[in-house]
Amino acid sequence: MSSSQYDEKREFELTPEPPGGGIAGDVDPLVAPVGRQFVIQQHHATALHHDLRLEMLNGETPVLVSWAVPKGLPRRRGQRHLAIHVEDHPVGYASFSGTIPEGEYGGGVVRIFDAGTYEMVDRTEERITFRLDGERLAGTWHLVHTGPEDGRDQWLAIMSEDLRPPGEEQPPAEPMLATLAGDPFDDPEWLFEPKWDGIRAIAVCGEKTRLLSRNGKDITVAYPELHRIHSQVVALDAMLDGEIVALADGVPSFQLLQQRMHLRDGSRIEQAAKKDPVVYMVFDMLYLDGVDLTGRTLTERRELLEETIVASERIALSPVTDGTGTALFEAAAEQGLEGIMAKKRRSTYRPGARTQEWLKLKVVFDADVVIVGWTEGEGRRSGHFGSLVMAVYDGDALRYVGNVGTGFDKASLRDVEEMLAEAGPAEPSFSPDGSPELRDVHWVTPSLVARVEHRQLTKAGRLRAPSFQGLRDDKSPEECTWKQLVAESGRQSGESQSRSSNSPS
Ligand code: MN
Repeated sequence: MSSSQYDEKREFELTPEPPGGGIAGDVDPLVAPVGRQFVIQQHHATALHHDLRLEMLNGETPVLVSWAVPKGLPRRRGQRHLAIHVEDHPVGYASFSGTIPEGEYGGGVVRIFDAGTYEMVDRTEERITFRLDGERLAGTWHLVHTGPEDGRDQWLAIMSEDLRPPGEEQPPAEPMLATLAGDPFDDPEWLFEPKWDGIRAIAVCGEKTRLLSRNGKDITVAYPELHRIHSQVVALDAMLDGEIVALADGVPSFQLLQQRMHLRDGSRIEQAAKKDPVVYMVFDMLYLDGVDLTGRTLTERRELLEETIVASERIALSPVTDGTGTALFEAAAEQGLEGIMAKKRRSTYRPGARTQEWLKLKVVFDADVVIVGWTEGEGRRSGHFGSLVMAVYDGDALRYVGNVGTGFDKASLRDVEEMLAEAGPAEPSFSPDGSPELRDVHWVTPSLVARVEHRQLTKAGRLRAPSFQGLRDDKSPEECTWKQLVAESGRQSGESQSRSSNSPS
């Protein structure tokens, strides 16, 4: 027999897999002479599965006798996982890691999950028992032949003995925090990443995915579309650090996410997950298969992370650039991102600590706005105003652009109050049309101009996270226009510009 199922199924001009060289038929795993090596590949084909391959001999030729194991080999005694015996693979397949093109047989990403040596412990007429000594797995499994079913040669994989040494303790699931810094810079000792405007979350990946917020709250239930990200991780156990982001036109939209984060009702969560699915943008890894990585340098952790994550629609590796922070900062500003992160290459991961080795460099916009009213303060600010109502001229009419309640100190609070009294009460500048921030507004004559910093002009036309910088007496209210606000908010080129260079892959 010279035909080989392996070769027949594949077009070697199209797939990067090694040619089989016409392996003569498939061997019987219950009787074939055994070899030494094993490999388990994690195969992100139409359906994610693991491929277990044990080296055996076909005459003189070593081959990899193969099983597709949809759930992977059992991790605990008592678990029984289906394994489908498939065609023998050439021995060169043991080192194959790569991407089989879409449309080809088995199209998708293949990563080596584990490799090492194996020993055949026992064989009967319908069962093989083997011991794996790999990087990740160590233990004894049975493969029991249950026979053909649905045209497939079915077996059952059962763990009989787990020989893995106990792993190191997992570090606390507390994200490392960055210090706000000033100007972007270039430095080969640093890595730069986009700053994602979302919800920081630690993902604990094992047989399930658990998502923990910055303060340790379990937020898994809120993001059903992320419940399978552990299967995009080439590991038994990993702890990831990243940001849950909702993308609108390729740019993270915190507003979109805000609509998600407060949902409690199951069916509404499911609906939102379908309508506005989030992405987990990963940038760090704290733990991998029994090894605490927090003492390793960022450079080392990043390398391991890149080997460990298989990107999908729901999980992406946050891109990094070497050394050139200024260029990335400009790009971030252009693309409407919140800013960039600078991280020292040699830094270790310090859970829960705010450090100088991680810096955030924000893209902040300035705007000049007309003050048209104020709301009453509460708590520490009771007896003073709580926020100022901001507007700009859109044609002849004033247009509401939000409230600003932060950025004041004692002096500016007093100044503003004096000026508000001077401006005097007035009829509403526009209809509050249901905005809760416009309930109980004390309207004033629109004569004051304030400079505020903000981070984005939202889709609804509000300044996001505005912060008061001061009053301006060198600019008239009429000069504060919607047109200028849009132009200066970093949004003006947003529509025409391609976002594709920004989409992480
Ligand atoms: Mn496969």
